[in-house]
Amino acid sequence: MSALPAARAAVRDLLNTLGTSRRTEWRTCFSTDGSEEPTGVAPVCPDEGHEEDDGSVYDCCAEPVIECDSYPMAAYLAALLNADRGAS
Ligand SMILES: [Zn+2]
Repeated sequence: MSALPAARAAVRDLLNTLGTSRRTEWRTCFSTDGSEEPTGVAPVCPDEGHEEDDGSVYDCCAEPVIECDSYPMAAYLAALLNADRGAS
């Protein structure tokens, strides 16, 4: 198995243990590191009161929040995870 499929499968297993599924949609979010950019990744929040463009994390939001320490990395990880949603 090449590196990417192995890494993808390992992360899928990890995220499954954290309560998400392969259908989970991801977003960038403001985590707790205090930076001014959304440097974290979290599941899209389904709560009606949580505006789609609000990148904050509230009590209504599902875990996990994955800190990436940079916005470009967070945006890339969210895009990768979303691209994998439909992958078999
Ligand atoms: Zn929320």
